[in-house]
Amino acid sequence: MRLRNITGSREVIADSKWCMETPRDMAGKWREYFGNDHPVYVEIGMGKGRFLMDNARACPGINYIGIEKYSSVLLRGIQKLEEEPLDNVALIRMEAEYITEVFDEAEIDRVYLNFSDPWPKDRHAKRRLPSREFLSRYERILKPGSVVEFKTDNRDLFDFAVTEANGSGWEMPVCTYDLHADPELMQDNIMTEYEERFSSIGNPICKYVICRPDRRV
Ligand code: SAH
Repeated sequence: MRLRNITGSREVIADSKWCMETPRDMAGKWREYFGNDHPVYVEIGMGKGRFLMDNARACPGINYIGIEKYSSVLLRGIQKLEEEPLDNVALIRMEAEYITEVFDEAEIDRVYLNFSDPWPKDRHAKRRLPSREFLSRYERILKPGSVVEFKTDNRDLFDFAVTEANGSGWEMPVCTYDLHADPELMQDNIMTEYEERFSSIGNPICKYVICRPDRRV
């Protein structure tokens, strides 16, 4: 997502009850924060938050946490929550690589990656959110048996992601190169902002669902 430096967005975030800044002190306390034992789903790179909030509205029995590194983008999400408060949503401004400091082991139930930045240069492969380095972080914070769901229209990034997941021992119950042509998968598909934009110009959307390997006892 391209940056426009919105003056004061950092200040708005600091003052907002919906958003936290790399909250390391929250690890292990997310259930307490939401005040219930509902599952916790996390979207990394939530952008303006449409997918997160559409999900949260549709599934009040699940808590949703959106992570976004740019305050200027996150601001839109905060504004939406101020207009339409959703008790089951929290937003975090942070760089995703610190995710294991903000969540405890096995504290969360699902990770969503939607239209993640491609980082096309080989030397930046570790920064891609579906890379093996990130998968091992997700493995720590996810409960056994839980999943990562990834959607993108970027075929190179998707091929990379599939190879990384297979090479790291994750099972892949769903893998499609044209999500919108699959009526079964489309039944409960919630579109993201980028998904709407790129599918409307004819780009096929790829999606996988991968299951956390059960290496730990
Ligand atoms: N998920 C949204 C936005 C996709 S654009 C959608 O599908 O419509 C990717 C977003 O991820 C951008 O807003 C970008 O700032 C954010 N992002 C990319 N890498 C990130 C990282 N390492 N940590 C946190 N956010 C990240």
